[in-house]
Amino acid sequence: PGDPLNVIALECRRDEGALRLSGVPGLPDEAYEHDGQLTKRHVRAATLAALAPAPGELLWDIGGGSGSVAVEWMRTHPSCRAVTVERDPARAARIARNADTLGVPALRVVTGAAPNALTGLPTPDAVFIGGGLTAPGLLDACWDALPAGGRLVANTVTLESEALLARRYARHGGELVRLAVSHAVPVGGFTGWRQAMPVTQWSVTK
Ligand code: SAH
Repeated sequence: PGDPLNVIALECRRDEGALRLSGVPGLPDEAYEHDGQLTKRHVRAATLAALAPAPGELLWDIGGGSGSVAVEWMRTHPSCRAVTVERDPARAARIARNADTLGVPALRVVTGAAPNALTGLPTPDAVFIGGGLTAPGLLDACWDALPAGGRLVANTVTLESEALLARRYARHGGELVRLAVSHAVPVGGFTGWRQAMPVTQWSVTK
């Protein structure tokens, strides 16, 4: 109280409905408007860590969903830039709303299907693939767009896409991990683990 910075912090917290919104990736899922297509908090934090944003860098976020990966990339530094590609127009509009709400209105939203929608985009420093992995030519288009030293991270919950990632891992190396997150939930009067679908993540530096 009395300290103007403290007042601003308190005001911000009240505006955000008592949710604490850190600059560190892994915001609560409730920070986002979403329709279920959202990389959940713990997997999202691991995804951003693998993407390893640095000031001034550009991310391509393919299959934007609710936009959370691009939003959190941009929140790491004011000079970070991102373009998200989402084929579903309602989701694309939702991404723009999330970007506004979470303080990164400069997030560029492209409504269209990758890989076609990638044509003409500026060269990325990192690419995240959160949807569309099985679209013909998508992985090649992303790999070709990356400069040497660029990072590529791809997440999937399906066996079909996992098979694609396993082949790429055999060819290019990097790291292939499976993230299996469980949440404690009520079971009768007790508590048990509810397991989310395991996410397979391939990350590699070109
Ligand atoms: N990482 C996102 C969730 C991704 S859900 C988040 O945290 O919010 C996967 C999304 O990929 C879906 O919204 C789906 O519409 C989109 N998608 C699937 N194939 C695509 C393609 N070829 N081009 C663009 N978007 C695609």
